[in-house]
Amino acid sequence: MPGGQATPKCRFQDSSPGGGLPAFAAEAAASAEQARPTGGSERLRPRSREGGRSYVSTMSNSRRPISHDQSRTIVLYGQGLQSGLKTGMILSPLPPDSGILFRNITTGKTLPASIDCIESTDFCTSLQQGCITARTVEHLMSALHAYRITNVLIKISDEVPIMDGSAHAFCHLIEEAGIAEQDAAVEEFVVDRCYAIGQVRLDAKFIPVEPYDGFRVTYRLNYPPPLGVQEFSYEHQDSTSYRDEIAPARTFAFVKEVERMQELGLIAGGRLTNVVLIGEEKIINSTPLRFPDECVRHKILDVIGDVYLLGRMLRGHVRANMTGHTENIALVQKLRAAMPHPRE
Ligand SMILES: [Zn+2]
Repeated sequence: MPGGQATPKCRFQDSSPGGGLPAFAAEAAASAEQARPTGGSERLRPRSREGGRSYVSTMSNSRRPISHDQSRTIVLYGQGLQSGLKTGMILSPLPPDSGILFRNITTGKTLPASIDCIESTDFCTSLQQGCITARTVEHLMSALHAYRITNVLIKISDEVPIMDGSAHAFCHLIEEAGIAEQDAAVEEFVVDRCYAIGQVRLDAKFIPVEPYDGFRVTYRLNYPPPLGVQEFSYEHQDSTSYRDEIAPARTFAFVKEVERMQELGLIAGGRLTNVVLIGEEKIINSTPLRFPDECVRHKILDVIGDVYLLGRMLRGHVRANMTGHTENIALVQKLRAAMPHPRE
């Protein structure tokens, strides 16, 4: 990349956001009062001290009974990447066929995590319906996809906390609370032919998905040094493979790109604690990468999240080259148009 970058001018610093909003704390306390132990079936045992409870509902092919008294609200505090504000997030269970819903903590209004509600794909995936906004949803959606969570209520202000820029905290949150199986079948989109966005050329952005007996994402990126070419193929087996191979990978940004976005006021919450910042010759962060190919793994994390806005699990092989949220979402919109009975 051209130009010098010895000292980035952007406002990235090593600082921890901490703190939280009173509204989230009050809501969490109220829900804790209502929580009761459950004797119902659980696919994933919670690790919390309270034990025996689960809060996030997932559909499955299992015919095991549903426990209706497992509700437990989990709250997470963090910072909005775009707003820079301290914020929080609360996850609560929902009954079968509810879907994934975002609810504004102040107004109580709700919008679905759906490809039909895309507001923006500029460096983050954001949703909007009427006056309700849910920004930066892709990392949370990625974890929900990997853990096969299909029914959950997510209360936020208007942005999902960025946490450390990966999906690690969301995996921990889901595991901490546990998962309740529901007596309903998982809905899948089974790819029966190739769907594609872009032209298949190594110097172009393209993203096809093709038939495959499973869910696999292969991604290739090619940037100037220090990144160079990175390629990784992730076979999704279960939440463990996702948690180990994909979830820890943090988002990344280039110094020049960050300067431009900060001038536009787009990433007020950017910190070296929530992004891998890449200079022209080296990584700016003082802490080591979590994987040598962390960046391409994060791109796969993003694809897994964006694809889940289809509202269904995907059975197919996604092969992406240099795509961002815009191309990912364009592919999902193409799949949505091909669905015989689109989810309302
Ligand atoms: Zn991302």
